Amino acid sequence: LVESVASQLGVAILQSESYANLEDLNEQLEALERTRSNLIAITGHELRTPLSTIQVCLESLASEPDMPTELRQVMLSTALSDAERMRKLVQDFLTLSRLESGRVEWHLEPLALQECVDLALSSLRTRQSDAPLPKIQTNVPGELPLVKADGEWLVEVLAKLLDNACKFTESTGEVLIEAHPNGGKMLEVTIADTGRGIEPNRLEVVFDRFYQEEGALRRTAGGTGLGLAICRQIILALGGQIWAESDGRDKGSQFHFTLPLAQETAGTSGARAKNG
Ligand code: ADP
Repeated sequence: LVESVASQLGVAILQSESYANLEDLNEQLEALERTRSNLIAITGHELRTPLSTIQVCLESLASEPDMPTELRQVMLSTALSDAERMRKLVQDFLTLSRLESGRVEWHLEPLALQECVDLALSSLRTRQSDAPLPKIQTNVPGELPLVKADGEWLVEVLAKLLDNACKFTESTGEVLIEAHPNGGKMLEVTIADTGRGIEPNRLEVVFDRFYQEEGALRRTAGGTGLGLAICRQIILALGGQIWAESDGRDKGSQFHFTLPLAQETAGTSGARAKNG
């Protein structure tokens, strides 16, 4: 019976010998089931909201052929932006589940951080062409030691952190990207902004799935609440750590992460860079 419940949940770890007895196993199964139900409920809610908006807009457009042009434009752009929100949500959700289930094949190689930062910056500028960005400064010297990472995923982390820094900072504010060796084995990267900041009791929960601060900005900022959860999975899988700091409301935020240096990891097994 236990095995059949387990296979329904798709949990491979059930064969693990670490479970002392059936009671432990049942407790773990119940916890997994609760997590799975919560996840489905949250995802369903997050998808239903934009879907309802799209439906209302399309119904109004269909039932009122003489709708004033201005209102028609508002309806169309609202429906389009909510469709885009749903697309991002599904994409981020699939990315996160790929990462969490260990189905990612990592291509680790020595990388110059500066090149990854340049790629992330150009992707940011392409995506946010209509919104004015804060001033972005970089202090990532070309002579920094190389890191051992997967370039595509590293650019993804940098792009998401930069995107957030710009999203939550006024266009008159500033964003700074800097990096320095940390302890001889790691490189530490910081993305700091002068934006709205994060309350001290939120510094850890911001990395939870679907966490978004309540309020008007939640929708105008247009995120999915999955970006930082994705960043955390990637950085842990690459053998680093990620954390946030802030002096509080309107005092700006700093997001830091570390990555192993290429030379250090080349001399060791390299196994820790695989799937956290
Ligand atoms: P989102 O898609 O909402 O950006 P994230 O997972 O990337 O989702 O971030 C989760 C939440 O963490 C954001 O909605 C915001 O409340 C907070 N946050 C993230 N980055 C920053 C930042 N640079 N400054 C202030 N708050 C931030």
